Amino acid sequence: MARFANILETVGNTPVVKINRLAPAGVNLYVKVEAFNPLGSVKDRLALGVIEAAERAGELKPGQTVIEATSGNTGIGLAMVCAAKGYPLVVTMAEQFSVERRKLMRFLGAQVVLTPAAGRAVGMVVKAVELAKAHGWFLTRQFENEANPDIHSRTTAREIVVDFKGERLDYWVTGYGTGGTLRGVARVLAQEMPDTRIVVCEPQDAPLLGSGLAQARHADGTPAAPHPAFKPHPMQGWTPDFIPKITADAVASGVIERVLSIPGAEAMHYSQELARKEGIFVGITAGATFAGALRVCAGAAKGANVLCMLPDTGERYLSTPLFADVPADMTEAELAISRSTPSGQFPA
Ligand code: PMP
Repeated sequence: MARFANILETVGNTPVVKINRLAPAGVNLYVKVEAFNPLGSVKDRLALGVIEAAERAGELKPGQTVIEATSGNTGIGLAMVCAAKGYPLVVTMAEQFSVERRKLMRFLGAQVVLTPAAGRAVGMVVKAVELAKAHGWFLTRQFENEANPDIHSRTTAREIVVDFKGERLDYWVTGYGTGGTLRGVARVLAQEMPDTRIVVCEPQDAPLLGSGLAQARHADGTPAAPHPAFKPHPMQGWTPDFIPKITADAVASGVIERVLSIPGAEAMHYSQELARKEGIFVGITAGATFAGALRVCAGAAKGANVLCMLPDTGERYLSTPLFADVPADMTEAELAISRSTPSGQFPA
C-alpha cells in the first residue's frame, strides 16, 4: 500500500484470490474481488473512466451536472467520482432496485430520480436522456460509451495479464450488465492470452444472448425496444431488458467461447457459500458468476486455471432476497447458547 493523492487513485488493482474449500479437486479456481474498489464494485472503474474521458474530450465542463440511468453500482461509483471532482450528479433508477443503493447515492450527495418498475431498464434510460436534453446535463451513456470498455482494457485486463504472466489462464468467466467488463477484458485477452477461453454467464430467466435473437437498436446504439427473451430476474446489475451495444460488440467480435444460463436460486446459493465457506462477502451476480465458474471447472482439464469475476460487495443486498433467510432475532440455537450461562439473559 502507498499513499494516494485522492480516493480515485485507489480504484482498480483488485486482488485475485484462490478458492480453497469450494473449488473442485485438481482445478485452480481464482476470483477477482471487485468489492475491493473504494465504493465496493466493478463500476467504480467505469465511473472514473467515463468522467475522465469526458473531461479530456472537453464534453464535461467544470461544475456541469452529470446524469446517468443506473441499477445502482454505476450511480454509486459516479457519486464518488463526482463528489471527489465537484460535479453535481442526478441518477435515474427503476424503483425495484434495492433501497440501500438509493440511500448510498444520496449519502454521497447525488440526487436519485426513481422511475416506475413497469418501465424497467429502458424506462430509466429514456428518462435520463430526456432530462439531459432538457437541462443540458452530461449523460454518461454507460451502455454505449466506449470509455466504459476502454477503462477495462486499460485496468481490469492489464491486471489479469500481469497476475497470470508466465502461466496459463485457461478460462475467464464473467457476466454482463453493460458488457464493459466483458468487452474491455475479452479483447485484450484475445490479443495477449489467445488460449484463454472466455465464458459469459446470464440469468436463466433472461437468456438474451442464448436466445440468438437480435436486439432492435437506434442509430446511436440505444435500444429501440425491450428484448423478447427478457424476464425479470434476481441478478441486480446483470442483463438489463435489452442487449447493450457494448455487449453486442463483444459477441460480434467472436471472442466468446460459450454462454451459460444461471438460475437465480443458484446465484443466491453461491453468494452465501462464498461467504460461509471462503469468507468472501459478495453480491448476487458474484454468486451467479461463481456458479458458472464451477460448471466450467467441472469440464476443465486437471491443473486448469480458471478466473471468475466477482463484481460487488454483499453489503449492497441487505434488503433483498439474498438476506431473506437471515434472521434479525436470536434463533433457537442462539437462545440455547444464551441460556447456557447465567448472565445477560432475556426474560422468557
Ligand atoms: N454485477 C453487478 C452487481 C453490476 O452492478 C454490474 C454492472 N451493472 C455488473 C455485474 C456487470 O458489469 P458490466 O456493466 O461491466 O457488464
